[in-house]
Amino acid sequence: MHINGKYRLACETQILELNAETIIIQPLGHLPVLRDLIVDLTRFFENYRHIKPYLIGKSPIPEKEYIQLPEDRSKIGNTIDCILCGSCFGACPVAGTDNAYLGPSALLKTERFLTDSRDAAEEERLKIANDIHGVWRCHSVFSCQEVCPKELNPAEAISKIKKRILKKGSKKG
Ligand code: SF4
Repeated sequence: MHINGKYRLACETQILELNAETIIIQPLGHLPVLRDLIVDLTRFFENYRHIKPYLIGKSPIPEKEYIQLPEDRSKIGNTIDCILCGSCFGACPVAGTDNAYLGPSALLKTERFLTDSRDAAEEERLKIANDIHGVWRCHSVFSCQEVCPKELNPAEAISKIKKRILKKGSKKG
């Protein structure tokens, strides 16, 4: 929620820490308000589903789990920590002007799987991201990074996806 001028996790924000006489709480931005502070998250989760937020493993499928070396796991870093709070979406000026924009967290998740050594869907993922409502809508404002309670950097992830697309020479948008 937007609490005293900043997106914060309402579940862990302490009133005392706000150090303010007046506390103003507003719902998450860019999403329809259903009632009071409750927003309709349909668009947010539709975007999330659209980018296929799961491992599309390489063939042949192993009998047990896909093995990942520690050095490959470290490339993914903390991008798995996203809790889908939507703060980055609410803070993103592009999400507020383009209803079809995939948004920072969905694109961060895209980069998380593009980096995963076990994933085999690079082409499919880049095709989804390489859309006029995908990575090319991002204007690198970095609001997403500023508000993320998990200290993630969706803007950087988006920039990495842009580089991947340009490397393949298939920019669209
Ligand atoms: S990237 Fe950060 S701000 Fe955005 S949904 Fe995930 S945890 Fe929340």
